[in-house]
Amino acid sequence: MPRALITGITGQDGLYLAEFLTAKGYDVFGMVRGQSNPKIPTVEDLIPSIQLLEGDLRDLSSLIGVLEIAQPDEIYNLGAMSFVGLSFKQPEVTGDITGMGVLRMLEAIRIHTQGSMEGVRFYQASSSEMFGAADESPQRETTQFHPRSPYGAAKVFGHYVTQNYREAYNTWACSGILFNHESPRRGFEFVTRKVTRAVARIALERQKILAVGNINVSRDWGFAGDYVEAMWLMLQQPEPADYVIATGETNSVGDLLRIAFHHVGINDWRPYVVQEARFFRPADVSALVGDATKARSKLGWRPQVDFQQLIEMMVDADLEIEKRYPGPPEGLSVPLSRVADADSRFRYDSSRVGGPGFCRP
Ligand code: NAP
Repeated sequence: MPRALITGITGQDGLYLAEFLTAKGYDVFGMVRGQSNPKIPTVEDLIPSIQLLEGDLRDLSSLIGVLEIAQPDEIYNLGAMSFVGLSFKQPEVTGDITGMGVLRMLEAIRIHTQGSMEGVRFYQASSSEMFGAADESPQRETTQFHPRSPYGAAKVFGHYVTQNYREAYNTWACSGILFNHESPRRGFEFVTRKVTRAVARIALERQKILAVGNINVSRDWGFAGDYVEAMWLMLQQPEPADYVIATGETNSVGDLLRIAFHHVGINDWRPYVVQEARFFRPADVSALVGDATKARSKLGWRPQVDFQQLIEMMVDADLEIEKRYPGPPEGLSVPLSRVADADSRFRYDSSRVGGPGFCRP
């Protein structure tokens, strides 16, 4: 039975990937940080067979300890401070976890394998935010990076250090340059989830107004369930390489608002939305769209869920959460246990591994 270690197990991608690998017959280990991480019950509820180990990407010795217990064949390094907006407010923490954390994990592998780097395949969660103000569109593996946030800059460091360990130590290491991907499990701070949750609450007359930042920015948004399959496919290849994973379609935040409100029967979203300066970023990325030709031809990977299906899926999930649990006062976040509960209909369907894979509403 192959053994996989996932950092960032409590995050959106970690949960989907753990379900995916468990269904494929892997022994899955997840790394959690903190004294009593409140997300642990959610992880254990969704993936009962998971083995959780304590470790932190800011602490090399803890990473070595985790590797000694897990003895992984595959490592998926998904742990990060992943919110671009917060990275402007906490740039040092972002650099330490999202950037230096990658180096520490690679060093931990080097120490764990006594310098040989053999027997371990490493996946690094790189990001389209590395492209930032890119000088070509769509962006592909060869596009020059021009990050526009501390998060993007930290990811560039992680990306290059992964390449460096591949070249310097012959490490089986690759990076997936993933464009934005979302799901009913997305954190509430991210714009897609912020919108779908607010739309659900507005439809149920529990909220009147949604405050957002710049509605003109565009992103290439896909479904997280599709994207974790691409991570796994990358580690099954004969040689390590980096791949762009994207839908090739770009939509603005305005498009997101239109589709989400339309799904609950509101055709004119403008009376319900205000743009507030506090949500604008010191430097932003106006548009991103990816070219996943390499992933299509080498991995046989294709996204299964389009943008409209994705947003409607998220609105439906948030409506279910809101209906099942009378919402908290405006502005407070929904407790995670409620998300896990309402999330059950979006769980991984193991009978469909190899196909589209994930339950749809
Ligand atoms: P997420 O939901 O924000 O999850 C981030 C995870 O990182 C959480 O499990 C968090 O654990 C963990 N983490 C934070 N600090 C840590 C530390 N010091 N040590 C160990 N773990 C730590 O992110 P996601 O959407 O699943 O994304 C997964 C990865 O892909 C991230 O690296 C992200 O930057 C990258 N990525 C995401 C996207 C996207 O659109 N989703 C696109 C490109 C790349 P706690 O529970 O302890 O907070």
